[in-house]
Amino acid sequence: NDLATLMSVSVNDVISTCMGMGMFVSINQRLDAESITFIADEFGFSVDFTTTEEDVDVVLEADNEEDLIERAPIVTIMGHVDHGKTSLLDYIRSSKVTEGEAGGITQHIGAYDVVTESGKRIAFLDTPGHEAFTAMRARGAKVTDVVIIVVAADDNVMPQTKEAINHAQVAGVPIVIAINKIDKPNASPDKIKEELSGINILVEDWGGKYQCQEISAKTGQGINELLEKVLLEAELLELKANPEKSAVGTVIEATLDRGRGYVTTILVQQGKLNVGDIILAGSHYGRVKAMFDHRGNRIERAGPSTPVQLLGFDGAPQAGDILNGMQTEREAREIANKREQIAREQSIRTKKHITLDEIGRRLAIGGFKELNVIVKGDVDGSVEALSDSLLKLSTEEVQVSIIHKGVGQISESDVLLASASDAVIVGFQVRPSNGARKLAESEEIEIRLYSVIYDAINDVKDAMEGLLAPKV
Ligand code: GDP
Repeated sequence: NDLATLMSVSVNDVISTCMGMGMFVSINQRLDAESITFIADEFGFSVDFTTTEEDVDVVLEADNEEDLIERAPIVTIMGHVDHGKTSLLDYIRSSKVTEGEAGGITQHIGAYDVVTESGKRIAFLDTPGHEAFTAMRARGAKVTDVVIIVVAADDNVMPQTKEAINHAQVAGVPIVIAINKIDKPNASPDKIKEELSGINILVEDWGGKYQCQEISAKTGQGINELLEKVLLEAELLELKANPEKSAVGTVIEATLDRGRGYVTTILVQQGKLNVGDIILAGSHYGRVKAMFDHRGNRIERAGPSTPVQLLGFDGAPQAGDILNGMQTEREAREIANKREQIAREQSIRTKKHITLDEIGRRLAIGGFKELNVIVKGDVDGSVEALSDSLLKLSTEEVQVSIIHKGVGQISESDVLLASASDAVIVGFQVRPSNGARKLAESEEIEIRLYSVIYDAINDVKDAMEGLLAPKV
């Protein structure tokens, strides 16, 4: 309606133009920038947007190969609840204090770095749970080089173990398995390895490619070996960064501290961050007033793969926002303001994620090649049957990918995964949890619920054909 008014044409004409493009819109439907440009063009108008996403990206300095040096890996620990994620991190943190700084009090800042026996550094993100990991990824942040999956040897490979593995795999992050609690008399690491093989995770001593270490987060047994395996995995990645350019990092946490102001934990990933630097993250900016390491010691500068706590932002950026060191305060402020404006506009814009109804339009515009689907169902048999049938709907133009499938209700972590991977969720004889439903609304993730498999298959099939039909 707004667009029709701007162009002084009838609403019905705009709607039928949309239909012609495979978009079935209502009179008050919001359209995204791409569609507006397309439709306006049909009516002989060109569109000028006052802000665009390009304006708010910070142009990164190019790296010369010779400026790159090895950087420490950044590791996240994931696994089922009570399998020992916190204990493992606590053990590592308390036993591997950087030389010369022993005795410092560790504060919770969301990220730590430790030095291993072999003298190499590893940075750990203290955001246990794959939800946090995937939430970061959904915001475009890539902050984990290696994932440690913890499985308790006195328990089983649990739903959350599988989910964590799946989330790491979808993100393309290498996995090291830690079989924990082997000090317990009823520990049975072989049973865990067997269960892992059942979900296609073959560990090395079973002839597979996954490194695996038996550990005890209580006694410390095997933990040095685990860290060496993480380093080995990291070596294969040839992680490098230029330590001299302006800083690039990711926001891990931000809080408002009475007295100190906004306190932000940043993981510096490239370049160097100095006290006094002008910084930008999301729609906030400022100047680094003071910086601290995770032991609370004041530091003047931080290089790649270093977590720091800093003071100086004019507000609280969100976890997952990218931090950039900037040349001038004016540029930082301008970009921050533009981003805020875009965020405001986006909150009233249309779907940012795929829906079945959107498929046709994206096909018409071109470039849509893959439909990502998450399948949840009440029993394994129907999940497998539905997934198989959906996979078979792949055409030359569009590949259907089942990025995750599982038994049980649709969880918040499913929605986060959908958001990070631009997927639709198909539920068969299951419902979303309350939290998942709310999150799906705010993340604009489509959840389709079915009680007949045939209906689900038909809907996806129709959607994909709807896409294929209109050629513009
Ligand atoms: P998280 O939920 O994965 O973070 O698990 P926690 O680290 O909180 O551990 C859950 C429980 O298992 C706690 O009571 C720990 O003390 C215990 N635990 C963790 N690791 C070990 C271990 O290696 N051996 C034994 N015996 N207990 C452990």
